[in-house]
Amino acid sequence: MGHFADFRCRGCRYEEVDLGVGHGRKPTPVLKLFRCDHCHSVGSTWVQEGRVTRCSFCYHDEPVLLADDVTALACPKCQAPGVVTHRRDATWE
Ligand SMILES: [Zn+2]
Ligand SMILES: [Zn+2]
Repeated sequence: MGHFADFRCRGCRYEEVDLGVGHGRKPTPVLKLFRCDHCHSVGSTWVQEGRVTRCSFCYHDEPVLLADDVTALACPKCQAPGVVTHRRDATWE
């Protein structure tokens, strides 16, 4: 089962909440957190073998995938330290 994560920047107040992470009943595809340097955003997107992984906002095909347990991330908009909060009690499948 997957969980949800929130990203919050301490600098510019940019935030993305309720980002799905992990996988559902099947092991694939998986939702992974990404940072997109093309549209300067943080989000989550489906990753599947044989499929191109795309930014869920601008569909750019080279988002930077993040570790599932990432907790610190430079804000893609202002480069200030941002925090990723994982809400393990909020699950989806
Ligand atoms: Zn920021
Ligand atoms: Zn993008």
